[in-house]
Amino acid sequence: MSELAKFPHHTKRGAIDWPAMPSVIASFRGSYDRPPVKASPEERLEAAHHLADHYRHARRPIPPTISAII
Ligand SMILES: [Zn+2]
Repeated sequence: MSELAKFPHHTKRGAIDWPAMPSVIASFRGSYDRPPVKASPEERLEAAHHLADHYRHARRPIPPTISAII
């Protein structure tokens, strides 16, 4: 689960932290004031698949940043 620890998106009780999700997604790419999260290609792929599953189960559109990876 180490790859997911780099992209924290669950509350302490295990629910999906949707309000945190945009920031988590942004951390794949980084932004003007923040570099991307350091993660290997394998870790990024694992995490992207995991996050995509959450979006699918919630019937939410998968963000382009994620769909570009998986
Ligand atoms: Zn998750």
